[in-house]
Amino acid sequence: MKKRLRIFALGGSDISPTGQVDPKTGKFKIPDLPEQWRRTAETCELLATIIKNNPNDNYILTHGNGPQVGSIILRSEYSKPILHPLPLDICDADTQGAMGYMLAQLTNSLSVIGIDRIVAETVTRVVVDHNDKDFLNPTKFIGPSYKKEEAEKIQLEEKHLMKFYKKNDEGEELWRWVVPSPKPIDILEIDIVESNIRSGIIPIAVGGGGIPVRKVIPEILNGDEIYKCNYDIIYKRKFIQNQKPLEIYTGVEAVVDKDFASSLLGTMLIEKAKNRNEELDVELNIFTDVDGAKLNYQKHDQKDLRLLSLQEAKDLYNINIFPPGSMGPKIKSAINFIEGGGKKVRITKAELYYETLKGNAGTTIVYSK
Ligand code: ADP
Ligand code: MG
Repeated sequence: MKKRLRIFALGGSDISPTGQVDPKTGKFKIPDLPEQWRRTAETCELLATIIKNNPNDNYILTHGNGPQVGSIILRSEYSKPILHPLPLDICDADTQGAMGYMLAQLTNSLSVIGIDRIVAETVTRVVVDHNDKDFLNPTKFIGPSYKKEEAEKIQLEEKHLMKFYKKNDEGEELWRWVVPSPKPIDILEIDIVESNIRSGIIPIAVGGGGIPVRKVIPEILNGDEIYKCNYDIIYKRKFIQNQKPLEIYTGVEAVVDKDFASSLLGTMLIEKAKNRNEELDVELNIFTDVDGAKLNYQKHDQKDLRLLSLQEAKDLYNINIFPPGSMGPKIKSAINFIEGGGKKVRITKAELYYETLKGNAGTTIVYSK
């Protein structure tokens, strides 16, 4: 029988929404930890019902980290007088731990309905190209939202590159810090994720898009093959002509988009199943803070896109109507996923999941309609 895998990619901004106005200060508020726990618990409750209704399927949870990684790096900057700063790859790793810990509440939601399945947070590294064009034109929004004037001041004083993100429900412009977001090209822990799902475990993987690392190209010096990693850490062995280089990786300061990483995770698992002559039906469910992709987003003639074929998604993506750093990566990830053998992609709000299944909410992308 064909095995089915359901990937649920949870938006960092769904867990910690940005751009909500605090009535006391008039500023945009940053959701505190109790709110993040509660919002995560709500999503876990939904996931538990889906798992209950489809007990023979396999599941993977992934999550974004834009607001959360931004909070960590801001904390690191404020504490500079007394503590060493934290590079972005370490901040990414920290979010995998803390957000994975919160998402592991899923076991509680499963327990109360009598389901006993292990949920395992997997620290995951993703390989990126150090020459990715996003290093020259960063697109990944992190941290809280600011009003335009405040963002301009931060850009001037803190040297953080700030860009327009979107408008909030009140129609105010939200501006955020952007950092490089190279495309993931490989997932180092893919075998662990695969063996977990094959044992019925529910892995939480590529959290925050994964910790970005790059493959180190060796230098040849005095008959030695030398791999230079961050912090002056060096790996060395004798150079032998035509010897296959070692797989040595070192961290990259960036934040990978979780939609790209989740899509890659799905297509890598499809490929691996194919190599074993097995067929795997994989669907990717992207939970975010908006009810699907729209045409003319936030304009008077905004229109829902409920069902798109692969070709329609590509045509829309190619006319650049989906902005980088938010809806753009979701649509491109969906295209990559379906082209890589994925069955279906849904982009929706968690609470609208069942309406999305009926075609009444969200955006569903399939190979052909
Ligand atoms: P997440 O953390 O879930 O990945 P993102 O901010 O990356 O959230 O992407 C979701 C956001 O994309 C929404 O909040 C929405 O404001 C924005 N967005 C931009 N363009 C569109 C569009 N055409 N249709 C729907 N949402 C859009
Ligand atoms: Mg995003």
